[in-house]
Amino acid sequence: MKGLGEYDEGNVFARILRGEIPCRRVFEDEWALAFDDINPQAPTHVLVIPKGRYISIADFAARGGQAEIAGFWRAVGEVARRLGLEAPGYRILANMGEDSGQEVPHFHVHIFGGRPLGRMLPTAG
Ligand code: AMP
Repeated sequence: MKGLGEYDEGNVFARILRGEIPCRRVFEDEWALAFDDINPQAPTHVLVIPKGRYISIADFAARGGQAEIAGFWRAVGEVARRLGLEAPGYRILANMGEDSGQEVPHFHVHIFGGRPLGRMLPTAG
């Protein structure tokens, strides 16, 4: 089932964490790495990923340690603050599993900003 099951060590974000492929890093601490999305959907589109091996939000919420979860979400807020997005506002999004269209099986939060972001979801479909 997509978003659950065995962690795939070969996924692209695991490879970024291991330094095997490059990223445009915007933030890193003990718990999280943040980098520009390769296919940005807004003027600012950054991905924040935990350093641990978690497939999805479901996996992270179920198995993540207290400090890990706190550290990760604090990093998400800190990244948005450092990017200057608090005053204009921003959106975060996490895809989980099949219906969401999650592509990369390493938990990640998208941060979008830099323009008015419109409706939360497309209306069609
Ligand atoms: P999701 O559909 O939520 O799994 O989103 C995966 C995101 O990862 C997409 O927005 C992709 O553009 C992005 N992505 C895929 N490969 C890379 C990469 N090598 N560096 C940065 N972003 C990537």
